[in-house]
Amino acid sequence: MQSSKVNLLGLDRQGLEAFFTNMGEKAFRASQVLKWMHQFGVDDFEQMTNMSKALRTKLAEIAEIKAPEVVLDQASADGTHKWVLRLDSGNCIEAVFIPVEDRGTLCVSSQVGCALECSFCSTAQQGFNRNLTAAEIIGQLRAAYQYFGVTHRDERIITNVVLMGMGEPLLNFDNVIAAMNLMTDDDAYGLSKRRVTLSTSGVVPAMDRLCEASDVSLAVSLHAPNDELRNELVPLNRKYPIAELMAACLRYANAGNRKRKITFEYVMLDGVNDSPEYARQLTKLLKGVPCKVNLIPFNPFPESKYKRSSQKAITRFWDILMAAGVITVTRRTRGDDIDAACGQLVGKVTDKTKRQERKIVEQGGAA
Ligand code: SAH
Repeated sequence: MQSSKVNLLGLDRQGLEAFFTNMGEKAFRASQVLKWMHQFGVDDFEQMTNMSKALRTKLAEIAEIKAPEVVLDQASADGTHKWVLRLDSGNCIEAVFIPVEDRGTLCVSSQVGCALECSFCSTAQQGFNRNLTAAEIIGQLRAAYQYFGVTHRDERIITNVVLMGMGEPLLNFDNVIAAMNLMTDDDAYGLSKRRVTLSTSGVVPAMDRLCEASDVSLAVSLHAPNDELRNELVPLNRKYPIAELMAACLRYANAGNRKRKITFEYVMLDGVNDSPEYARQLTKLLKGVPCKVNLIPFNPFPESKYKRSSQKAITRFWDILMAAGVITVTRRTRGDDIDAACGQLVGKVTDKTKRQERKIVEQGGAA
């Protein structure tokens, strides 16, 4: 049964302050409750001992602190860790922790499945069910902290968060903003804005809104240097073609006085987008854009029609970009033994787009 209580876990400082002033309380209660929920991992108002008994009782009547339940946690041989979180009867999502030297990056999901149909991504094959609530997004970070046995941010195990899990974060704008506010709030997780990265497939109008609402780091899933190829790999490109996307990237990078570099992600697909000619086109496209490029070796999944580029092709591509002065790194594949690598996150999605049914019909199977 749906609860009628307000779930405080997903409210950022502004939301909590409004909640408390509405109930006739002082706004500073927001700081207290943020710390209890996010730094001490408390979900019972009774334990919030710096508030009066009467207030605690009242809170328990009208509010709750509810996080998604961890139903599976899995460790990879390389130190990567994956959590599957259950949201409701039909849906699960995944979050992945990736330790690299002195950094620990948590990759979180923003939607149940994904409505975009990028041809090389396994989440896309699953269809889409719904947006995650802000509580479900921040709940992934909280679950990871709880797993490590640290609830306080001083324990720097998780140093970075990337919104690169399931879903397109800019199509779940308000909830993603609230969750990112919590990630960077000193009374919650206290991460630096530079260490929170939102990755988008290029929802141009929402990129401009993001510019107004936040100044987290931005990553853009480019994957092709021209419209013809990008239309095929990232169908959203038909709506927001490369020229518009690059203009939005420049606006983001140069907004205010922030001078941010945009990270461009480029999945390396054998014989599809990895030729020297495409590398040269990419260097031209990126000329004058403050950026770096992340080459991601393709991670296969069942029924995927692509193959990973050879190491030789990746190195050749990298050489051309670097020679043109574009800072380029090749992302090491991590966690693929537990299906936790980029593009392998699937969770459990009750598809509402009929994509699965369509696929069965297309394949001539039983409909
Ligand atoms: N929707 C957002 C965020 C999720 S995808 C976006 O498109 O940016 C996170 C990154 O993983 C993207 O760059 C995506 O293109 C990449 N990716 C998806 N499937 C992949 C696969 N099979 N192998 C390697 N990278 C993949």
